[in-house]
Amino acid sequence: MMADKKEDIKDLSLPALYAKFKSLNEPAYRAEQVFEWIYKKGAKSFADMTDLPAKVRDYLANKYEISGVSLASMQMSKSDGTCKYLFELRDGETVESVLIPAKDPAGGASRQTICLSSQVGCAYGCYFCASGLAGFKRDLTCGEILAQALAIQSDLFRKGKRITNVVMMGTGEPLSNYDNVIKAVEIMNSPLGLGIGARKITVSTAGHIPGIRRYMQEKEQFELSVSLHAADDKTRSRLMPINNVYLLDKLMSVCREYTKEKGRIITFEYILIRDVNSSTTDAQNLVKLLKNMNCKVNLIPFNAVSDFKFSPPSFKEVKAFQDVLERGGVNSTVRSQRGADIDAACGQLRLREAKKSI
Ligand code: SF4
Repeated sequence: MMADKKEDIKDLSLPALYAKFKSLNEPAYRAEQVFEWIYKKGAKSFADMTDLPAKVRDYLANKYEISGVSLASMQMSKSDGTCKYLFELRDGETVESVLIPAKDPAGGASRQTICLSSQVGCAYGCYFCASGLAGFKRDLTCGEILAQALAIQSDLFRKGKRITNVVMMGTGEPLSNYDNVIKAVEIMNSPLGLGIGARKITVSTAGHIPGIRRYMQEKEQFELSVSLHAADDKTRSRLMPINNVYLLDKLMSVCREYTKEKGRIITFEYILIRDVNSSTTDAQNLVKLLKNMNCKVNLIPFNAVSDFKFSPPSFKEVKAFQDVLERGGVNSTVRSQRGADIDAACGQLRLREAKKSI
């Protein structure tokens, strides 16, 4: 059977849709109508867009599709409500997305954070990450990134809730799929898209320096998170092969530049692994590395995955590590392990499903 060649309309930004309707001699507000149908009302077909003239609906249906993802598997944590979705794409590849419900620490309304994938598999091969184990397949399109969000959103709508925060921290290195990721977060941020505030959208990187430089130029105030996981090159290279390309001093220098240029804080992710990077000496090195930087550190005790030889540090070791940071003036939070009773670590569910089919 011939492959369907229709373009995914979700690959079009709002300015691109404005241009499209202009070229069709249709008023600009048609673009806004289409956006609202897809992102606010969850329309699955152009026929649903009843306030568009029939000829416009027909044109769109002939040229475009509104691609979705189908649910291949889902796990929900009994302890904290974290939901892990495995979505199947049109070509049969699968990606993971996570919904993390939480109470607002400031006492406001509850948060519904979604964590989205940017690639099928990952080329970076971090030694503690299940996503890297299965290797890299391909970049996700903008439409496929958005389809993950829309599928979770329709789940939330049924419960009278909505997505409040987005982290591009699932499978893949977002900054090596730069254009698609940025277009997708812009659409999520747009008031006519998902309407999520820029400061509630975080793009995470394993330390892709050219990507951070580009990201610095974005006009929207999206957040940046950098996976650090070690404060010296030897340990970091042992955990993250990307460190052999972008050494720590170069990474830190671009991070400092970022905080100055944007006037924004950077969040550093630091997975604590017993006997690898969680000693008080490691904490002291981290204090030196981050000295006087506008940043905070998320400390994440390693989530034991059967495919890895690493293990989490004890509660006492975590506390001792954090105490050193605090004394050194580095702001940190210990992130509670979410979804501990499901395959919540990045890539675990996809890996488990893939193994079933081998
Ligand atoms: S941690 Fe991120 S960059 Fe590293 S292998 Fe996993 S998905 Fe890729």
